[in-house]
Amino acid sequence: MADRYLSFTATAPGRFLTARLGLPQPAALSRWTAERPGLDGHLLHLTAGGPSGLDLAPVLARTGLPTATEAAGATTGSTAGSATGSPGPAAVVLDATGVRDVDALAEVHAALHPVVRSVAASGRVVVLGAPLDARDHHQSAVQQALEGFVRSLGKEIGRGRTVNLVRLTDAPAAESTLRFLLSPKSAYVSGQVIGVGTAEGPDGPVDWTLPLTGRTALVTGAARGIGEAVAETLARYGAHVVVLDVPQAAEDARRVAARLGGSALTLDITAADAGERIAAELPDGLDVLIHNAGITRDRRLVNMPAERWSSVLDVNLASVLRTTDALLAKGALRTGGRIVATASIAGLAGNAGQTNYGASKAGVAGLVRSLAPRALAEHGVTVNAVAPGFIETKMTAAVPLFIREAGRRMNSLAQGGLPVDVAETTAWLAHPASGSVNGQVVRVCGQSLLGA
Ligand code: NAD
Repeated sequence: MADRYLSFTATAPGRFLTARLGLPQPAALSRWTAERPGLDGHLLHLTAGGPSGLDLAPVLARTGLPTATEAAGATTGSTAGSATGSPGPAAVVLDATGVRDVDALAEVHAALHPVVRSVAASGRVVVLGAPLDARDHHQSAVQQALEGFVRSLGKEIGRGRTVNLVRLTDAPAAESTLRFLLSPKSAYVSGQVIGVGTAEGPDGPVDWTLPLTGRTALVTGAARGIGEAVAETLARYGAHVVVLDVPQAAEDARRVAARLGGSALTLDITAADAGERIAAELPDGLDVLIHNAGITRDRRLVNMPAERWSSVLDVNLASVLRTTDALLAKGALRTGGRIVATASIAGLAGNAGQTNYGASKAGVAGLVRSLAPRALAEHGVTVNAVAPGFIETKMTAAVPLFIREAGRRMNSLAQGGLPVDVAETTAWLAHPASGSVNGQVVRVCGQSLLGA
């Protein structure tokens, strides 16, 4: 269902009228295309709190954006683009990992205050923070302060620009994450706090264009909607994709698989032996497992029959637990494997009429956080989740008009996301160079006002 309000505000009269009425002014987001794969402009690399010890410069140089470097508060008009009329940066990376007290936190303000206005439309602000130091409550306080800072800036920055926080200790391990956040692929990801560990990268050089070449990815619920976009994106990155969906959607599943040069597997994921059947279908194992299939059966709890509860919990959570357990137990996921499950902001924030759905999706987040360290230690497999907000699909087209409009506007970007936004986020988590990203639940919600 087209977002007519977004189209209207893209016209001059629409912009004029909605501005006069004080209505939301969504900016058309710049998304990835083969012709325009990167951001247009330069990257401004700032530091607050003194040198951090991160060897960031080579990693930032590999993003392909020309880099300018400034100390906190010393940004010049030529790089900030504020006074001279020269174009401002397409991206700003502020290294705040060295911030350990409130005085040093002032350098975050000093660094960004003069440049934020000049950041290009659909530009990126990425703040780098350190993990919280449990033995130092001053460091913990100001590093946690960065979360409130980033989320607040994300809500006020406007013009399709995003603001995210990455907690890291090792710059090379964060390369895939920085490349993603500093690209058009993260257009609908804002206000997020992403923890990056120190796991070693894959053996040998990384192919950043076709990173999944030679890998097999299975996507559940891939006959349409977000799953179809995920399958498409993973295929674009070189994976052989297995499109799994229910027997009733067999024709669509086969059509998607044929288009992507993959294969179709018709299977109800709630079948008790779903994991065994997937393993039998893929005797050589698989590298990427995407739990995307999901359903809603909304009713307020007082009106919800047990069947509505159990069907949602079965598809969205129990089958994810069962198939993950079965495939890990069988060793069907190869070392370096990736599991990405689909949560939802409704699970993180709660939503009236969705006690069943909210429970199932919060359960997915719990599964990810608990399993991730063990799956990595015992199988060399990472486990993460994406939590979509309002995404334009058949699922959300069925939502009543008023609620649909509210869902679209109630986020910092004032519009719904597209399936490709979830797909690109999933592909980053599935990337062979993302072994350092584990146990994360990343929202793809344009910084929805629902929940943190
Ligand atoms: P959709 O209804 O368009 O597609 C879901 C697909 O899953 C369908 O092809 C369906 O046949 C398949 N499926 C359902 N039950 C299955 C089963 N038992 N076995 C195998 N396949 C099954 O939904 P969507 O909007 O593309 O959502 C995809 C995922 O994203 C879901 O997990 C959903 O909860 C989640 N999500 C969506 C949104 C949104 O705004 N669209 C927001 C948050 C989370």
